[in-house]
Amino acid sequence: MNTVRTVAELRAELAPHRRAGRSIGLVPTMGALHAGHDALLAAARERCDVVVVSLFVNPAQFDDPADLAAYPRDEDEDAARAAAGGAHVVFAPAAAEVYPPGFTTTVSVGPIAQVLEGAARGTGHFEGVATVVLKLLNMAQPEVAFFGQKDAQQALVIRRLVRDLDVPAEIEVVPTVRETDGVALSSRNARLSAGERARALALPAALAAVRDGAAEERDTARLAERAHAAMRPFGVVPEYLALVHPETLEPLARIDGDALVAVAARIGETRLIDNTLLHLNGKVV
Ligand code: AMP
Repeated sequence: MNTVRTVAELRAELAPHRRAGRSIGLVPTMGALHAGHDALLAAARERCDVVVVSLFVNPAQFDDPADLAAYPRDEDEDAARAAAGGAHVVFAPAAAEVYPPGFTTTVSVGPIAQVLEGAARGTGHFEGVATVVLKLLNMAQPEVAFFGQKDAQQALVIRRLVRDLDVPAEIEVVPTVRETDGVALSSRNARLSAGERARALALPAALAAVRDGAAEERDTARLAERAHAAMRPFGVVPEYLALVHPETLEPLARIDGDALVAVAARIGETRLIDNTLLHLNGKVV
């Protein structure tokens, strides 16, 4: 496995594979790799001949400079983990390679980027995500790029971007990988103290309360109240707890079909997000 740092090196590395007709898969990450990223890599290995893992902590998508500064970085460990997972190339560009002097373009995806995380973190967040992902897709030109359901709104934003701008890549979304107690894996979990880690259970508890409640209750305000109640014993009040249409992200008054339940909460200094998809209308909840 090779680590490359420039777009020219990446293209040179991939060109022979492309000429040989091998399919290329891209797994974009911000590093601090964990089992959630491993699942994306495994999915990419299954579908594609050559897999690129990118490691880039994208300054453009951080609304909070302290959050950016605190973001965990360990390239050697990440490269070892990517190699162990069967990646062929690690792409770890410097910020100046991605945003050279004079860079001014941003990609704005519209309404689905303005609610939930977009509202909480500012419109700059998904503009930063969409811009860097479009750049990574253009740099690596993969047949398929892999994203996690853990960041459900991000996956929707990227699907929209790819559809609207005719990007010739397929987007595959991989289910959320969780710890055995239900907490979703996240690079941010490393920042939690033992006490905070215990309180992080509030997020999966809220999602479970909605999932279980949906068997008998379809009114979303009442389901949301159950979710808030499930978080209370952990001393956690969500930043948002939303029951929305799984594609438009518009709020639902009742659950009559599929729904996305999304939650964000601050545990101490650390902001965590999680979500679950509900499938109603005859399907298993
Ligand atoms: P990040 O490095 O946190 O920006 O995440 C890179 C990719 O990994 C994104 O597509 C995330 O949605 C995905 N990801 C992060 N955590 C998980 C998880 N627990 N399960 C599945 N995918 C994840």
